[in-house]
Amino acid sequence: MEDRILGLHHITAIAGSAKKNIDFYTKVLGLRLLKKTVNFDDPGTYHLYYGDEAGSPGTILTFFPYESARRGRAGTGMPTHIGYAVPEGSFDFWIKRFEEHNVDFGRPSEKFGEQYLPFRDPDGLLLELVIPKNGDNRKPWETDAVKAEVATRGFHNVTLTLREAKKTAEILTDIFGYKLQDQTGSQFRYSTDAVDSAAIIDLVEMPHANRGEGGAGTNHHIAFRVKDEEVLMRFREKVVSKGLNITEKIDRNYFYSLYFREPGGVLFEIATDNPGFATDETVAELGTHLLLPPQYEPQRAQIEAVLPKLD
Ligand code: ZN
Repeated sequence: MEDRILGLHHITAIAGSAKKNIDFYTKVLGLRLLKKTVNFDDPGTYHLYYGDEAGSPGTILTFFPYESARRGRAGTGMPTHIGYAVPEGSFDFWIKRFEEHNVDFGRPSEKFGEQYLPFRDPDGLLLELVIPKNGDNRKPWETDAVKAEVATRGFHNVTLTLREAKKTAEILTDIFGYKLQDQTGSQFRYSTDAVDSAAIIDLVEMPHANRGEGGAGTNHHIAFRVKDEEVLMRFREKVVSKGLNITEKIDRNYFYSLYFREPGGVLFEIATDNPGFATDETVAELGTHLLLPPQYEPQRAQIEAVLPKLD
């Protein structure tokens, strides 16, 4: 069986207030809070995960919220726009909802033959609701306010903004098995046929734009999905053979990861399906506990005391 990249695994971004972040993504957007843990490299900060019921790869958006974070600025060398699949006919609902909740949103527009509705989260992160050409049959998480007939299905696409697209495109095609699907001007759409959803990476080439500056309201990295650690380590060899630096395998508790910076400046991660999110709480309880990796468990009381209050 050929090793495949199975589309997107997760996307990680930076936020300001953790409480505002949770309120926006769970209440306004209707995602499930999947996991409440800490930044494994900085346990005084939360790491919040949102997605569908079980935290299926391709639905997972995660944030590092820093209460006093400076706002970043989207620019080149960054994942800049996150596209969520929504059902046809749902834009009227979403526009009304965004108006009611004072969400900053734009007019529906079209790219690559698909309608999309652009909006921003409270920190200014750029998001889009997209009506996929071929639909999306993933089962959505449903809330009282956001029912299945309008709910987000998970990621449709992510846009990387680059000074130059060519070398990034080569990583997608030569290592990850993506193919150029469409092109308009300086926008390139790459997709993989290994999966039906979360399969699209858009590259936008802006040779004269400013480099992005990390901070609240910007994306930190995108993670591509593989089945397990064996496939993960075979992709490690492929990245190394292209002359790129890549980390050793890192245990992220809910998946195993490798990180490398692609030539366009975007931090790429490759992450496994195993073991998944239902390892330290059941699917029914996901997101209800503060979960710490084993190395921080002895310091739980101190960590809980410094973390910001969420309600
Ligand atoms: Zn990650």
